Amino acid sequence: MSAHPFETADHERCPFMPVFGPPAISIERGAGTEVWDTDGKRYLDFLSGLAVTSLGHANPAVADAISRQASTLLHVSNFFANPQATSAAVRINELLLGATGHHGQIFFTNSGAESNECALKLARKWGGRGKHTVVSAFASFHGRTLATLAATGQPAKHEPFAPMPEGFRHVAWGDLDAMRDAVDGSVAAVIIEPIQGEGGVNPAPAGYLQGIRELCDDVGALMIVDEIQTGFARTGAWFGFEHAGVSPDVVTMAKAMGNGMPVGACWARTEVAAVFQPGDHGSTYSGTALATAAVNAVIAEMRRIDAPAMAAERGAMLSRLLEAVPQVSSVRGAGLLLGAALAEGIDAPTVYRSLLDKGLICNAVNASTLRFAPPITVSEDEIREAVGLVADALAEASA
Ligand code: PLP
Repeated sequence: MSAHPFETADHERCPFMPVFGPPAISIERGAGTEVWDTDGKRYLDFLSGLAVTSLGHANPAVADAISRQASTLLHVSNFFANPQATSAAVRINELLLGATGHHGQIFFTNSGAESNECALKLARKWGGRGKHTVVSAFASFHGRTLATLAATGQPAKHEPFAPMPEGFRHVAWGDLDAMRDAVDGSVAAVIIEPIQGEGGVNPAPAGYLQGIRELCDDVGALMIVDEIQTGFARTGAWFGFEHAGVSPDVVTMAKAMGNGMPVGACWARTEVAAVFQPGDHGSTYSGTALATAAVNAVIAEMRRIDAPAMAAERGAMLSRLLEAVPQVSSVRGAGLLLGAALAEGIDAPTVYRSLLDKGLICNAVNASTLRFAPPITVSEDEIREAVGLVADALAEASA
């Protein structure tokens, strides 16, 4: 295979915009937890393409559903329904009826940001003029479109694109008093992750989500839970908010729901969804037959293997083994969304690069934390192999 354009360090030949920085490797093929780069080197993928391929790479059930659908029907306009989209919407509504106790309705999207964009528009229409403010937490991540970036509580990411759309307020993560001060009658919604993923794998403290639910009820604001990283079994429940026993009004999802097929959704309980009228929102690719065939296969397969229980069980094993590594000071998260905090003085980005050399993919979610989000189907042997590599890399880093 000829050199990848990135490997030439020739900027004029690089076909991509320079938003991601130079990629470390070019991956050609995957199966389950394993991937192979263009040189044939094998890696264990303990990131699942950032919590996307939760059923493993090239999952046979999903691959089969996609290939059958590709030769049946890819797309029809939204003037018409298609059976795959209808059945995927019904299945997600069933999952969320179980998790929230509410009937709801779905809008399909192509990404997490679009799912949140839909939720933000829904909140503005719900609140009406003068009640359009959306509150979110610092260190949150909700997407890269202008509105979802404005909701994202990371001022450094706003700065190059100022001025941001107005109507967004940020408060300290995990601090219910700060949330109470911010949630007044002008607030249409609070948007919150059950575990901040990009912000460092920070689980919501006990009582935080329940407290937000009460504050939203007090002022008639919507509680939007962003399940884009945590949803579809990753944390050991179908949705991360279930651990807190709360019932949100709006739930956004993407990533694992297509196992790599670009697809997302915004769910709202029926009375909330009813504020949208024909023409209020849309997308050419909302609910394509191809994308929703993948969703149907993912949900069926996750039910078949009882993915929430599997994530809880394998997550407990990964967490226990990581905690036993001397240079890991603590492990946080839930199920198979875990952050390993490293002992003082060890630089997580350096360890990430050393692990990549050794054949393990994870990521340095901040300067002192490695994030692990392997496929839920990861085997016990693969967990042992990965933690062995982590132990070697950390021993070298601290030597
Ligand atoms: N919300 C959360 C919690 C995320 O983790 C992400 C992506 O990492 C997004 C939203 C944005 O999703 P996407 O990159 O598919 O637009």
